[in-house]
Amino acid sequence: MTVRTRFAPSPTGYLHIGGVRTALFNWLFARQHGGQFILRIDDTDAERNIDSALQPILDGLTWLGIDWDEGPGVGGPHAPYHQSQRAAGHKAAAATLLASGHAYRDFARPEELDEERKAAQAAGKPFLYSRRFAAFDDETARRFEAEGRQSVVRLKMPREGSLVIDDKVRGRVEFAWEREQDHVIQRADGSCLYHLASVVDDHDLAITHVIRAEEHLSNTPRQAFIALSLGYELPTYAHLPLVAEPGSRTKLSKRKLAQYLKNADFKQIMEHGQRIAERVGVTADADTFNPVIVDFYREVGYLPWAIDNYMALLGWSYDDKTEFFSRDELVRHFTLERINSSPASFDPKKLWAVQDHSMTALSTDEKLALMLPFLVKAKLVADPPPAAAVATVRKVIEASGDRLKVAGDILAYADFFLVEEPVLDEGAVKQRLAKPGAGDLLRAYARALETAEPFEPAALEAALKGVVEAAGVKVGDLVHAVRVAVTGKTVGPGLYDCLAILGREQSLARIARALPRCG
Ligand code: GLU
Repeated sequence: MTVRTRFAPSPTGYLHIGGVRTALFNWLFARQHGGQFILRIDDTDAERNIDSALQPILDGLTWLGIDWDEGPGVGGPHAPYHQSQRAAGHKAAAATLLASGHAYRDFARPEELDEERKAAQAAGKPFLYSRRFAAFDDETARRFEAEGRQSVVRLKMPREGSLVIDDKVRGRVEFAWEREQDHVIQRADGSCLYHLASVVDDHDLAITHVIRAEEHLSNTPRQAFIALSLGYELPTYAHLPLVAEPGSRTKLSKRKLAQYLKNADFKQIMEHGQRIAERVGVTADADTFNPVIVDFYREVGYLPWAIDNYMALLGWSYDDKTEFFSRDELVRHFTLERINSSPASFDPKKLWAVQDHSMTALSTDEKLALMLPFLVKAKLVADPPPAAAVATVRKVIEASGDRLKVAGDILAYADFFLVEEPVLDEGAVKQRLAKPGAGDLLRAYARALETAEPFEPAALEAALKGVVEAAGVKVGDLVHAVRVAVTGKTVGPGLYDCLAILGREQSLARIARALPRCG
């Protein structure tokens, strides 16, 4: 049997990280078994423009390296892959279920159903429809029609016994049939409802494993009933644990951002991302730009394989201690059996650690390729990047070492090298330059820089030490002042690296320009 899994998003306009986790697990399972991963678009209820609401989902998956063997853009032998285009198959299935007696036409009016519902409520019993207006034959149907009634198609659910499934994550799960309603599968206008469509499509797309979020577990009995009634073999089910809020067991939601910002780690990631977004001109409104949505990570310059790595840890573990995996390792090690059934809480700190680890592993060239586009987007480097700018950025990357945690960090570390005159941060000026004696120290260092040979970090450091010793002050007094004078701010690569990258002329010009601001 060829393993075939699917991710079936609705076109919502964004890719939630819970969705990524579901897509990733389906993808990993298919890749591991040499099977196929299918992308199906569940757009039966979509009211908005499907294409524009789908694009961010396709872009997000592509960025993450979660490629699909069949689906939008790539087609495949089971096309179409948009559920809305498969309506004929859904209607035919509804007709089959009617003909086999697994479904019936129901002519009840909404108020009649309400009455029954209320009566059950008053009696403290679960509501189960009496089937008073069910038509199992044409004659009854005609009688109801003559009364001016309209019909929907409902499942004739079993009322005794139970369904048992062997869920690959949750183990044996038993559902009592008496708790199931006679769910509607087709509306009065002939259109079919989602659960019927989903089962028919899974079957017609030859899906073998339905790996999906826990919230769909409660849909399983009605879907299994439909499948079994149509003579289908049930797929293997695996219901993944919730992706929960930081430090909680409640589902992570993009609408509860204000609450999550109370978590210091979450807030740090969010604010750090916003600073980068502002500089590259990304609209950073919380509805489309926050750590619950994949676009956030792409815009800020996280590494897609780090996100995959972290997402894999949301519910799955290899051995309870290994945290860093390449994509290939994930494909090799992944098993449904090692997915935990309890909610997996989103942990911004761990995400950051995985990102940090992945970034550290990159070569300078790899970082350069990832970071240059951020500088171009922020208009600090021309497009295409001139050789001189590329050489400077390369040096900045080398000098920054492990301090660049995401690709967008290059903005704060390289911006002052790429402009003629850096903007001096007023707070930094006040703290480091406008102090008594700062001007004299800077002037003395400038004189030393005029002759320092070679103009490289070791000599520049020795020169600074010489000035400091002669003046009888602390190294920090001068280091911080020089940094603010030449970079405009208090963070960046090591000071001597900064000076060496700028070169003698630029360094001296910048110090000269800062002197009037000194105390
Ligand atoms: N379209 C459904 C969703 O967005 C998919 C449900 C399923 O995987 O069966 O959650």
